[in-house]
Amino acid sequence: FVSDKILDGKAVAAQIRAEVAATVNLLKDKHGKAPGLAVVIVGERKDSQTYVRMKKKACEEVGIASFGADLPETATQQEVLDTVAQLNADPNVHGILVQLPLPKHIDEQLVLAAISVDKDVDGFHPLNMGRLCMKGREPLFVPCTPLGCIELLDRTNTQISGRRAAVIGRSNIVGMPVALLLIKRNATVTLCHSATQNMEQVVREADIVIAAAGQAEMIKGSWIKPGAVVIDVGTNPVDDATKKAGYRLVGDCAFEECKENAAAITPVPGGVGPMTIAMLLKNTVNSAARFFDGTCTH
Ligand code: NDP
Repeated sequence: FVSDKILDGKAVAAQIRAEVAATVNLLKDKHGKAPGLAVVIVGERKDSQTYVRMKKKACEEVGIASFGADLPETATQQEVLDTVAQLNADPNVHGILVQLPLPKHIDEQLVLAAISVDKDVDGFHPLNMGRLCMKGREPLFVPCTPLGCIELLDRTNTQISGRRAAVIGRSNIVGMPVALLLIKRNATVTLCHSATQNMEQVVREADIVIAAAGQAEMIKGSWIKPGAVVIDVGTNPVDDATKKAGYRLVGDCAFEECKENAAAITPVPGGVGPMTIAMLLKNTVNSAARFFDGTCTH
């Protein structure tokens, strides 16, 4: 998956999707039922609508049944909670995803905590996040983007155990869970954030760099230790008059410079992005298998 140092996330994601499709077929043969994913969207945000469309299309392609609840921007918190409760009770639904962000009048944490732990395919339920932090405990689901980062390391045979990793960003959806996953895999991790001093020095010492700060090309080539593996999660629009849309996407790493020193680096786009949806499909199928086998916690 690495050619000219470029780690092709699209190709890895395609392989995972093919594996998921094969598992879906096995489950259908064995149990006569398809895995099902429900996506809840509230409001009209264009970017959210696009993400939801992409997720539904990806489900279709691998044979996962997709269910949806499109609620208007004016939906009340209770209506959103009622929708989640209905999906929790629906035996055809094995994964529930609430597209974020929610409109401001809705308490995001309350909604995420209302999703059944057994159907929490985004892995944002506090119980799943909590288990991720604990030694000897395993979450039922891990958030998709962090899981995708680890999968990229694994599928390129990057050793994690015993190595130094720098994670830049500590959000609930990327930085923090990816740092916790690396710790579970016995890396020595430094988690950087907006108050970190001498970040450059921290990155220089890292064998694995995971950048998730949302700062266009902040990480320079000279910061990268020769031979390090760089996973760039950042997706930042920068003005570009030559593009039809008027902008292009760049990562948190100055790609060409960082590539010089890195052993492998993910491009933006085409790196971590495609992995996120692939891992969502994988989480959904794993969940369905647990339901079909009767090994859920509830
Ligand atoms: P958030 O804005 O929630 O978090 C950003 C994190 O980066 C924060 O912890 C922040 O620190 C830290 N940070 C910001 N600026 C700096 C800086 N100058 N130096 C060091 N740390 C800094 O972002 P997300 O985690 O949601 O997303 C991060 C990036 O990843 C974005 O570009 C986003 O678009 C992309 N993304 C891509 C996905 C994909 O599938 N490819 C999926 C999800 C996100 P502090 O905590 O101190 O504020």
